[in-house]
Amino acid sequence: MTTVTDAQLREQLFGRRARLQAASAAAADSGLVELLAQVDHALAQVEAGSYGRCDVCGDPIEADRLAADPLVRFCIDHLTASQRRDLERDLETAARIQAALLPGRELSLPGWDLGYRYRPAGPVSGDYVDLVPASGGAYFAFGDVSGKGISASILMAHLQAILRGLAAGGSSLAELLVAANRIFCESTLASHYATAVIGRLDGDGAVELGNAGHWSPLLLAGGRVRALTAGGLPLGLFCGAHYEIERLRLAPGDALVLYTDGLSESRNADGEEYGKERLSAVLERANGATSAELVEACLADLASFTAGEAAGDDLTVMAVRRV
Ligand SMILES: [Zn+2]
Repeated sequence: MTTVTDAQLREQLFGRRARLQAASAAAADSGLVELLAQVDHALAQVEAGSYGRCDVCGDPIEADRLAADPLVRFCIDHLTASQRRDLERDLETAARIQAALLPGRELSLPGWDLGYRYRPAGPVSGDYVDLVPASGGAYFAFGDVSGKGISASILMAHLQAILRGLAAGGSSLAELLVAANRIFCESTLASHYATAVIGRLDGDGAVELGNAGHWSPLLLAGGRVRALTAGGLPLGLFCGAHYEIERLRLAPGDALVLYTDGLSESRNADGEEYGKERLSAVLERANGATSAELVEACLADLASFTAGEAAGDDLTVMAVRRV
């Protein structure tokens, strides 16, 4: 498990201090002197056992903020007005960067009609959706990274880079999943993982997919819904995991629907969960609709079920329909 111990932290801070001292000796820069003072303050806090606590309230500072900047001194509740504005600007930029990582809304793939909606609970999301054109078809990926907010969005971008790199390599889907799991496992904290369905669509209606611990995709075929059975461990839990690949052929009009727990685990005012049965019934009623219409039907039914209860989790729905 990769956690930063006090000894490692002290070593990192001393390293930064030495580099800052060298830089400020070379150039008389008041910014460097101020930074040096902040490093000394952090080192004193490590010695006193109070490192990572807010200077104002003494509560632990949010772990993802501390990981991004080991010199932060205030929890989010005790930022100054200008620090708060800086943070908001950073989040707005992060949201724009993440939106640009998503596939274009006008998805086009010969033989297929695709639609999705990506709705973060906050400025950024830990959900993942992607489509990568390949010879004769495309790879698709759909999933959910552990946690929420900024840290989850960084892992989402990391997972996307891994999968895009592997998809370009021309290996089989089973090999791709094994490699993605190993790389994600080796490059993230032991407490972080991702669930994902990764598959390949071909122009003739053939689909192959593997499922790394995500909700089973629903197949709407002939007006009836059934859950696909491929399963496996989430990415990032065990480096040596293997994945079974499920193969099927969709007839014209058949559709696959994928979703994250922002949909299935949403609750109404009585605390009831939305659930897969209700989702399946909506899809059967919407049989014959386009992918965009299937996605909108799910969201409309969820909205009427939750009746204005605030969304607690990131939500993504995708439909892939053979035309
Ligand atoms: Zn505080």
